[in-house]
Amino acid sequence: MILTDLIGHTSRRVYLELKDCMENRAATIDSQSAPVSLVGAGPGDFGLITVAGLARLRAARVVIYDALANPALLCQAPADAELIDVGKRAGQHKLTQDQTNALLVAKARECLARDGAGGGGVVRLKGGDPYLFGRGAEEAAHLARHGIACEVIPGVTAGIAAPAWAGIPVTHRNLASSVTFVTGHEDPGKPETSINYAALASLVASGGTLCFYMGVGRLGQIVESLASHALPLTTPAAVVQWGTLPEQRSVRSTLEKVAIAVSEAGISSPAIIVVGAVAGISEPGLDYFLTRPLRGRRVLVTRARSQASELAAMLEGLGAEVIEAPTIDIVPADAASLAQVDTALQRLSEFVWLGLTSPNAAEALAQRLANLQLDGRALAATRLAVV
Ligand code: SAH
Repeated sequence: MILTDLIGHTSRRVYLELKDCMENRAATIDSQSAPVSLVGAGPGDFGLITVAGLARLRAARVVIYDALANPALLCQAPADAELIDVGKRAGQHKLTQDQTNALLVAKARECLARDGAGGGGVVRLKGGDPYLFGRGAEEAAHLARHGIACEVIPGVTAGIAAPAWAGIPVTHRNLASSVTFVTGHEDPGKPETSINYAALASLVASGGTLCFYMGVGRLGQIVESLASHALPLTTPAAVVQWGTLPEQRSVRSTLEKVAIAVSEAGISSPAIIVVGAVAGISEPGLDYFLTRPLRGRRVLVTRARSQASELAAMLEGLGAEVIEAPTIDIVPADAASLAQVDTALQRLSEFVWLGLTSPNAAEALAQRLANLQLDGRALAATRLAVV
């Protein structure tokens, strides 16, 4: 609407035509163009997967996923899709990378043999972005060596999203004009480290941001390495764990004190470490996520499936994570019960009170009245109590 106001009348027609095309286009981003799709699941929050990624998931025959992907996303796959967990948590590999590679080839061949090239295929779902510390490229290369095409659907990476929902923009016009993604997995002390801490320290000193992945376990060494290359200990540093999820927690500190702050807060993996001026930012308007009233709460909605979504959307809007678990199902009453209800409705004037225990009861009542050729006037003499 704002767009049409700005660009005036003629363009409004163009805009509407374009809008039409794009809506059709959005409806057709559902077919997988390669037997295997490497899909970025985003950092955690359910809504942070891309439109194309979600479409691939919804058409998948097989989903091969990691531990970090939001498990709720898996419910988007067709009910008969095969779901395979190859996730790894520090030290406990479920499958080695070689085994995962082999599995991808085997499953892609199975899908091709069954459905040909046109059918839904294998979705390789990875946390964040598949090519950012995700070994996605190795998997794509392995598939290519076996003659299997593989597309990549990028994802929202944790290094941007987790700080953002903790109130930290990774670049900022006045504070940071570059951002560098670094793996903290490598031991900074080992002689053959491929990470140049001198360069990283000077990047921060000249107005840059560092985002360390997989680094909380080595936070002390990371701080030491940066400090030993003359980065001041007063440099702001922040750590965000479980970014964008209800469990998100963060600490803001300085290089000097961040390790203590993290251990006091009990923060561990998975977390992003942010180093640089932006980690100290406290401008109004950046902390929307942190201030939502139901932030950090997980709410089970037990209403009937048909009624759950509205409540779920409201709760989500307030920051809650919602799990829909319908414990009731609203079905029509059997004939004998309905006959009893009808008898009572025909003698309504003999009753003092009529109690309606839910909107479902009100709807059922209206239906029965209509069935008996009655309407609201039948209730005139009866007192109503409603929940
Ligand atoms: N491909 C992923 C990164 C995989 S490496 C991406 O693009 O985000 C795994 C590391 O990512 C974790 O050790 C942690 O540093 C980071 N990470 C992933 N999800 C995170 C989250 N929700 N909050 C904070 N850090 C996260």
